[in-house]
Amino acid sequence: MRLENMTWPQAEAYFQKEDTVIIPLGSMECHGRHMPLGTDTLIPNKIIEHLETMCDIAIAPMIPYGCTDYLASYPGTVSLGHDVLYQVLTAVTQGLKAHGARRFIVINGHGGNIPPLDRTALDLEKQGCLLAQMNWWQMVWTLVPDQNGKSPWHGGHGGGEETSAILAIDPSLVDFSEISDAPMNGLSETLPASGMRTVRFRGTDIPVNRMSRHVSDNGWFGDDHPKDASAEWGEEMIRAAAEYIAAFAEEFRKVPLE
Ligand SMILES: [Zn+2]
Repeated sequence: MRLENMTWPQAEAYFQKEDTVIIPLGSMECHGRHMPLGTDTLIPNKIIEHLETMCDIAIAPMIPYGCTDYLASYPGTVSLGHDVLYQVLTAVTQGLKAHGARRFIVINGHGGNIPPLDRTALDLEKQGCLLAQMNWWQMVWTLVPDQNGKSPWHGGHGGGEETSAILAIDPSLVDFSEISDAPMNGLSETLPASGMRTVRFRGTDIPVNRMSRHVSDNGWFGDDHPKDASAEWGEEMIRAAAEYIAAFAEEFRKVPLE
C-alpha cells in the first residue's frame, strides 16, 4: 500500500486505525566498477515490491539520496551529508507523525545512513514514537544457516551479496566485463587495509577513516567477491528479507507506546 497512491481521505482513514509506516531509504553512490550507482536504492525498492504483497502497512516514497561522504570522489556519487539527511529524516517522520504515525520502519540500503538514523530514532523515542532500522544487508545474514561458522550471505560493499541482489532485479545493470579483484591500499606493510574504513593490527580491525578511493580505485570492498554472485542468491535473499520485515512489523505494531 503506497502512500503516494492514496488520496488524502484514504490516508486519513489509514492513520485513524494504524500508526505504523514504512520508509525506504537509499543512497546514490559508487558500488564498484561493475554495479549501478543506485544499488542501495534499487534493492530496498525490490524488497518493498515483495513487502507490499505480504502486509498492509503504508509505504512512504523512497528517499533516494543518503549520507555517503567517504565515497563522494567516485563520479556520480552524491551525498546529502549527515546534517542534511538528519533534517530530511526529521521532516519526513515529523510530517507523518502530524497525521498519526508513531512507529516507523526504515528499510535502509546503506551503512553511512545509520548515524543520522540513530539520531532521528532517539528524537522520536523521546516523543513517544519508535523507529526500527531494517539495515537489510546485515539483517539477512542470520536468515540462512551458517556454513563453516559464517553466513553464506555475509557481504561487504558492492561484493557478492549486493551484486546478487542486483542480478535478481535486472542482470543488465551489472557490467560483467568490469568484475575483477580490488586490492585495498593499506597504510603500511604492518597496517594493511582490512575494509573500507579499517586497518588490521594484531588481529583487530581499527577504523582509520579515509576517502574510499584512497583505499581502492575500484570501489567494491569486502571478502565476498562479486564473481561469486548469482541471481538465485539475490532472489532468495530479497524474498527472505521481505518476509522477515513483514514478520517483524507484525510484532512491532503490537508494542504498547507511552
Ligand atoms: Zn550498498
